[in-house]
Amino acid sequence: MDPLLAYARRMDRADGLAHYRKRFVGADSELVYFDGNSLGRPPAAAIERVERFMREEWGGRLIRGWDEAWLQLPYEIGDQIGRAVIAAKAGQTVIGDSTTVLLYKLARAAIDGQLARDPQRREIVVDRDNIPTDRYVLEGIAHETGCHLRWIDVDLTRGVSSEQLAEAVGPQTALVVLNHVSYRSAFIADAQELTRIAHDAGALVLWDLCHSAGSVPVHADRWEFDLAVGCTYKYLNGGPGSPAFAYVRDDLHTVLRQPIQGWFGTADLFAMGPEYVPARSIRRFVSGTSPISAMIAMRETLAMIEEAGMAAVRAKSVALTSYAIDLADAWLGPLGVTLGSPRDPEERGGHVILQHPAMREVTARLWQRDVIPDYRDVGGLRIGLAPLSTSFEEVHRGLDATRVVLREVLAERAGLA
Ligand SMILES: *Cc1c(COP(=O)(O)O)cnc(C)c1O
Repeated sequence: MDPLLAYARRMDRADGLAHYRKRFVGADSELVYFDGNSLGRPPAAAIERVERFMREEWGGRLIRGWDEAWLQLPYEIGDQIGRAVIAAKAGQTVIGDSTTVLLYKLARAAIDGQLARDPQRREIVVDRDNIPTDRYVLEGIAHETGCHLRWIDVDLTRGVSSEQLAEAVGPQTALVVLNHVSYRSAFIADAQELTRIAHDAGALVLWDLCHSAGSVPVHADRWEFDLAVGCTYKYLNGGPGSPAFAYVRDDLHTVLRQPIQGWFGTADLFAMGPEYVPARSIRRFVSGTSPISAMIAMRETLAMIEEAGMAAVRAKSVALTSYAIDLADAWLGPLGVTLGSPRDPEERGGHVILQHPAMREVTARLWQRDVIPDYRDVGGLRIGLAPLSTSFEEVHRGLDATRVVLREVLAERAGLA
């Protein structure tokens, strides 16, 4: 047998998290899913949980569901994310709007807070490879507030370094917005060190945790985060468009004021008072009616992560991406493919990007064969390996198919030349 396949089987047998894979819909099929970092598979138990919610809670309790249970749910799940995923003590994390909208609310709250304290702090520091939606939101905030964006140019196979950030921040900096794990290269930013550098300059930091939540450990409290947002439909399997989470450090709750002042953010929702009085807790970062039905499915994966522990999840993630790189080196390197992610696992998150000019075509053909990675310009085949639902043998199957398809595309192109 191919020793690389024998290795995969051995790893699957020895994998202490292997049993979780059976708990995801479709994981037993032949399809290779390399996109759990964009949209996680549905947990099987979520089907029953959602159905029970519809029948018993929504159908049975009707409007009465809004008494304690639903009102508390965004905070209850937020605390669970705090405990299981980002190491934040209770009362600082809440499920809210989409990541984009939460990022706007927190960034705007931070800018307004800084300008009120010191009108000279008019710069927002962001890197050019920050995910597009974050850059667009910040462009809008700069336009609204008269602030200025200060761009950091980054190496696309890595991300922002300490030196680069130290050079960009100063007495003019209001806010720094960074991705913890790069959506492109999977480079892990040194969040603790970068936060310290920003704080030394008097700036606030807003971390986007979308590609780390559920794959790379985060220590929001220990690393002294101010603000963070993260997706729940990626490694947390909340389902398409499931609402994001926001983290706000507790001493900022009474200091910052977010721009979308709605009734769900007031101290007493049912007081229906004449004017907006923000709650003195994480509640003030909520705006309108919480998307309760969209936050049910994520509870399954959160329970699995809480049971397994992020350290074990991360250990499997490192083993999966390392194995994918070994296969790519052996099979795809000779075809001209290069690694667009850090080789050092300490610096690499839960996905791997493989570079070759033919990857757009390769991705399209892989999808036709039920091998589902995604494509990121320029020439990047992105392989996302969700630790709870991916097996080593699946990685083998997927990389093997990639080798076959890439050879096919290269042979056709050579024939045409
Ligand atoms: C996926 C992702 C988002 C998505 O934001 P939405 O509002 O859910 O569309 C934002 N930031 C990062 C870093 C992401 O990876």
